[in-house]
Amino acid sequence: MKIEAAVLYHPHEKLRVETLELDSPKQGEVLIKMGATGVCHSDYHVVTGDAKQTLPCVLGHEGAGEVVEVGEGVTKVSVGDHVILNWLPFCGLCFYCQHGQTNLCTAYHPPVWSGTMMDGTVRMKNQAGQDVYHLSSIATWANYSVIHEDFCVIIKKDVPFDVASLVGCGVTTGVGAALNKARVTPGSTVAVYGAGGVGLSVIMGANLAGAGRIIAVDRAEAKGEISMQFGATDFVLAGPDAIDQIRQLTDGRGADYVFEAVGKLQVDCFEAARPGGTVCFVGIPSAGTTAALDVPVLIRQEKTVIGSFYGSAHNVRDFNLYCDLCVDGRLPIDQLITHRYSLGQINEAIDDMLTGEIGRGVITFT
Ligand SMILES: [Zn+2]
Ligand SMILES: [Zn+2]
Repeated sequence: MKIEAAVLYHPHEKLRVETLELDSPKQGEVLIKMGATGVCHSDYHVVTGDAKQTLPCVLGHEGAGEVVEVGEGVTKVSVGDHVILNWLPFCGLCFYCQHGQTNLCTAYHPPVWSGTMMDGTVRMKNQAGQDVYHLSSIATWANYSVIHEDFCVIIKKDVPFDVASLVGCGVTTGVGAALNKARVTPGSTVAVYGAGGVGLSVIMGANLAGAGRIIAVDRAEAKGEISMQFGATDFVLAGPDAIDQIRQLTDGRGADYVFEAVGKLQVDCFEAARPGGTVCFVGIPSAGTTAALDVPVLIRQEKTVIGSFYGSAHNVRDFNLYCDLCVDGRLPIDQLITHRYSLGQINEAIDDMLTGEIGRGVITFT
């Protein structure tokens, strides 16, 4: 069938929105009619060439839609199911899955990191007959996508697709870091560096956990008001004074929990944590990035430094939990969406994200 998709041909180029030929789903695969898809910094890492991906490739890895056709042997989903497209499925059998760390399962890494189906081949061709890859095996920046059934997480039909799409990456990454990994406690003080889609999700998670004071830190003044909507109690402009201001707001100690959702302020976050506090790195920097942490301080002040990948989530459980909490009005995921676009506006959506001044941009399909 013919589909419309946003294709990257070369690093640093604009995406081309064009018509592709999409094969029917094969063994174990399903056809998804995309409802909505988010625009995430990880997509931009592919545009810059920071994340290695064979091109041309349809980008997008935050999506939700409806199953409209199933291939042979599909048993886990049916036509009509609403699903979040999950770029990190897990096998349930390996060492990490057995130990409750399903987000560390590597069973699906070969197709996901190469941008193919499970059998190592692709289902899309451009008008010149050239193979086109599927980012993260799900290629959500398209009105239709063929994916393996294992990449589907069924959700209830009362969850709007735009909300569901964000749960597929940014929301789970942020909320899960607060709830699953750092395990923010009621009444605690929390500082969050970076108030983009992931940082605002950390704030939502900390608020849900009952944190007493949540300090948002961002370089864009406009983020002050936005972060308050998600439960931040204070806003600090990023810069040399930010650490002092966090200390002033926490009786001179520093915050109990500090989250890094920018990807380059790890040292500042380490300093902003109180003695005995926890620093949680969430924003993923370029490969090979190091951070010069003061080791004697780490030891004498007993700071804990942790990383959280994809919200340390069990994503089948957590996708549905976060969707339910949104529908119940307890997790305002819908308010993250400050900008809406058509697929044809994909380059504008990326540019808006890079200004650092918006919440989350979402592409919707009719
Ligand atoms: Zn993402
Ligand atoms: Zn596994």
